[in-house]
Amino acid sequence: MHMKKYVFVSGGVCSSLGKGVAAASLGALLECRGFNVRMVKIDPYINVDAGTMSPYQHGEVYVTDDGAETDLDLGNYARFTASPLTRANSVTTGQVYQEVIQREREGRYLGRTVQVIPHITDRIKQRIRMVGDQPEVDITIVEIGGTVGDIESVPFLEAARQMIHEMGHRNVISVHLTLIPQVAGGELKTKPTQHSVKELLEIGIQPDILLCRAPYKLEEDLRRKIALFTNVEYEAVISAYNIESTIYEIPLIYHQQKLDEIALRKLDLEVPKADLAEWQHVTTVYRTAQRTARIALVGKYIDLNDSYKSVDEALLHGGIASESRVELVRIDSERFEKADDPAELLRDVDGVLVPGGFGSRGIHGMVLAAHAARRQGVPYLGICLGMQVMVIEYARNVLGLEDADSTEFAPECRHPVISLLEEQIDVKNYGGTMRLGLSESLLREGCKLHEAYGKQVIQERHRHRYEVSNAYRAQMQEAGLIVAGVTPDEALVEAVQWPDHPWGIGVQYHPEFLSKPTRAHPLFRAFVGVSLKHQAAVSTG
Ligand code: GLN
Repeated sequence: MHMKKYVFVSGGVCSSLGKGVAAASLGALLECRGFNVRMVKIDPYINVDAGTMSPYQHGEVYVTDDGAETDLDLGNYARFTASPLTRANSVTTGQVYQEVIQREREGRYLGRTVQVIPHITDRIKQRIRMVGDQPEVDITIVEIGGTVGDIESVPFLEAARQMIHEMGHRNVISVHLTLIPQVAGGELKTKPTQHSVKELLEIGIQPDILLCRAPYKLEEDLRRKIALFTNVEYEAVISAYNIESTIYEIPLIYHQQKLDEIALRKLDLEVPKADLAEWQHVTTVYRTAQRTARIALVGKYIDLNDSYKSVDEALLHGGIASESRVELVRIDSERFEKADDPAELLRDVDGVLVPGGFGSRGIHGMVLAAHAARRQGVPYLGICLGMQVMVIEYARNVLGLEDADSTEFAPECRHPVISLLEEQIDVKNYGGTMRLGLSESLLREGCKLHEAYGKQVIQERHRHRYEVSNAYRAQMQEAGLIVAGVTPDEALVEAVQWPDHPWGIGVQYHPEFLSKPTRAHPLFRAFVGVSLKHQAAVSTG
């Protein structure tokens, strides 16, 4: 058995250079060469997890099978690689300190002074090796969030340095993603990169590979200059240039520059043949697609690109599966509230998606959007909150329960069609926590959801607190609303479907977390498919 191998990915100059996608793309390439890869994200913030963080601040919260609420980069790993992702794959400063302090309280440091080095750094190394030292794993890619030079990342970089020192340069390598900015006049500047590498060197890490973000491909002389100043092999100065198409082309761009081969060589591993057919297929379909489905995304964090990251990506995957592109039309739900005729806002779209969310702002607008989609026969996919909105709309407009609402937004409403389980059945020790992670649902045979999945038992991830109230379930069903999915004990509604509508589905879970470009989630595949059909029907009708 060979040594376990580790790749640390750090970032330089500034944040938001796409470190997560870069790390995930390397993971994808190594998998294409047959290696068993694991991904770990380190977030230097003090929060224990991302669960309490606002999407305004930090983008989407990604949920794993075991119910960890993590950074959205885990979503990138899930889309690019086959690495299993659990609570173990997401490490934060908050967790590490919490674990060390817990041990200290238990007296496990035997009276010693507990310090950043070695106690915090040891714990960081343990957390990384807990993932990477599993028998089946070949290579673990550890992405260190933030930028080199941040105070918060110092202990993590120090842990990386120690791992390189302890396990050797042939087993642990450093990949540094950096920016080559363009100044007025068009010239590309290498100075910030030189400085950033200097900062890494000060910590004691010599990067092995540089991924240089720049508007266009770097010329040979510039790469030579960077190599010379940073002490990195010329071949290993890789050009991570901006692309027009999709992020799913990035593995191919890196592969053309031999990133995977160079990394394997530096890790002292054989270089088996690469099979990139799946990634080539995704890119080709994206580039050559003739049709475009216009999907309205109606939510309240619409202005922020990353708030519904996994939903955006899953739609794109649904497009690939239907050999088409998806154009997202982001509509702030409050615009429906202000519109004279809310249906007008949906005039040029082929489908409507209302994603998850918390808090009352913009809910009424979502209800109006759902109403318009139901009445106009526009395909609709409601995810979590988007499903609850469907139920509220149906109760208000079909059952005539004007004051129907969720107790999350209107605790005193007369008809709480969405409520906490404890309010429904008076168990006091049930609520207060969110339902998180993977669980099983049963789909009703013959309904559209069942058709989309092609099976009856499904496993999906959850992140919600409120439920469709069982007190209104029978009444809703009598009025036509189809309960398309339930928990195995039938206690909770997991999915609903509009009657007499081309395709209106709401699910209490989050299908977007399980979608991949190479294997679109069945629900997104079906949704984009019917949206294209709707488009064709409208244009010929
Ligand atoms: N706010 C709703 C709940 O807690 C929906 C959550 C979500 O959309 N993720 O049930």
